[in-house]
Amino acid sequence: MSVVESASGDNRGFAADVVIVGTGPAGAAYARILSEERPDLRILQFDAGALITDPPGAHVKNLVDDDARAAAQRLSEGPHPSTTQESTDTLDGYASDAARVVRAGTYLLDEGYQFGDEVGLPALAFSTNVGGMGAHWTCACPRPGESERVDFLPDFDELLTTAERLLGVSSEVMAAAPMARLVRRRLSNGLDSRRSRPVAAMPLAVRFQDDGRLWWSGSDVVFGDETRRNSNHLLVPQTLITAVRTAYHRVIGVTARDLQTGDIYDVEAPTVVVAADALRTPQLLWASGIRLPALGRYLNDQPQVVHAVKLRDVPPQEGTREAGPIDVLSGVSWVPYTDAEPFHGQVMQLDASPIPYDGEILPGEVVGLGWFCQKDVREEDRVEFDSQVVDGYGMPAMRIHYNLTEKDRRTIARAKDAIVAFGDLLGDAEFGAPIEFPAGASLHYQGTTRMGDTDDGRSVCDGNSQVWGHPGLYVAGNGVIPTAMACNPTLTAVALATRGARAIAKNQKAGRTVNQRSEQNA
Ligand SMILES: Cc1cc2nc3c(=O)[nH]c(=O)nc-3n(C[C@H](O)[C@H](O)[C@H](O)COP(=O)(O)OP(=O)(O)OC[C@H]3O[C@@H](n4cnc5c(N)ncnc54)[C@H](O)[C@@H]3O)c2cc1C
Repeated sequence: MSVVESASGDNRGFAADVVIVGTGPAGAAYARILSEERPDLRILQFDAGALITDPPGAHVKNLVDDDARAAAQRLSEGPHPSTTQESTDTLDGYASDAARVVRAGTYLLDEGYQFGDEVGLPALAFSTNVGGMGAHWTCACPRPGESERVDFLPDFDELLTTAERLLGVSSEVMAAAPMARLVRRRLSNGLDSRRSRPVAAMPLAVRFQDDGRLWWSGSDVVFGDETRRNSNHLLVPQTLITAVRTAYHRVIGVTARDLQTGDIYDVEAPTVVVAADALRTPQLLWASGIRLPALGRYLNDQPQVVHAVKLRDVPPQEGTREAGPIDVLSGVSWVPYTDAEPFHGQVMQLDASPIPYDGEILPGEVVGLGWFCQKDVREEDRVEFDSQVVDGYGMPAMRIHYNLTEKDRRTIARAKDAIVAFGDLLGDAEFGAPIEFPAGASLHYQGTTRMGDTDDGRSVCDGNSQVWGHPGLYVAGNGVIPTAMACNPTLTAVALATRGARAIAKNQKAGRTVNQRSEQNA
């Protein structure tokens, strides 16, 4: 991997075997698998965002210096850093029942997130930086279960195993945390005998370093040394891809705009992977005139309910706390999704409880229960694009049409009842009733470029993530997930990306040098 600070000037006129748009975990998975299986292919990978860490794509939590971390978060917050958006992801923010949750490292959609009496997605958020949201995430990597699974893929389980390898997922790393053991024991005793999937330690994409500190996985871990050593892989930050170019529906390359210089140039490539998140991947396809009927539809944002309890009868703890909501004392526990109880639960220490509390709290003593509900996925929940108005990057502005159905309302009500009952197994609800977050707060947007096993107009891509009727064009990320998934989606997105990357590795002819056209033109 080499990083090009600016892609204009001498580097203009690139050609490559594969262009990857986006450097979040999904785009990084393509780079990694191709680097492992086809190091002869010339790969150009673009991101609209800046390089905020060394190595590229690392999680900002690994930055020990508070100022450096804050600067990296701010650099990720979009075209006009959201100086007026104070983070509401704090004790006070939760308590104020904020209509639009703001989290450091992310920024909200300015307008177009809600129309008329629709629920909309007021908390819809993005990250624009090398590493994408994968530089800011919580690293929970549960496997999907029951109807969440993508069962038309015969190799789905093996793909998940590979995704766990790429993301560095472990269920062990904090499983022995004293609070986590206590939480799991209480939940297991209360739930396991009647549920089809047992309570477990949450698989997390994190590892201990030699010095005992945690290293949170970001795209850096997915890239791995295989990509970093690959001299045929070139990373180009701060460059927006404005169009995928096609000829008779076949991909021939992309158009890029250098966000530092304003230069616009074309890149030739027979294969393009768009891994630009679940909203901006359909945006780029739409802007390119690629407008399949299912594009942007079946938008799935998991309604989210949170609650907090003070653990009962906690033995005294030794140890220090890490900054952030997860620490080595508390770990994270997992109440898996089941079709009978269609929500996915994660239980972890809260630094800030949802409701202000004046009493004394021991480290790890207050746990938050976060429940993600299965959405009643519908074609009419969608992102559309405005042909007259542009967003902060000059791309067609998003228009969100999104609603909750009666079934959704029932699921949310059931989740609230469940979270209270499960919380009672753990401790005392001294902080009030559960809170329902504003729609969009999940940060787990899915379905907008969904995969299908037939081209019936209800999907955008095939089982290898190749867009129907557009040879050479692949889509990646949570948008590809076709099921009504309630659990955290990144592991599955990386699994599906693995399959697409293998298909490219198998079928792609070799042969371009990264700046072949420049050399020819010289
Ligand atoms: C606070 C937080 C906590 C989270 N916790 C979890 C969790 O515990 N578990 C989980 O599974 N998920 C979690 N997520 C979600 C997770 O981060 C995403 O699922 C994951 O990052 C998606 O990966 P991606 O590669 O598809 O997209 P992203 O990571 O969003 O990356 C997309 C990239 O595309 C770039 N891009 C967009 N448009 C263009 C363009 N036109 N040209 C060039 N580049 C472009 C963007 O700059 C961005 O870097 C969390 C997210 C946040 C913010």
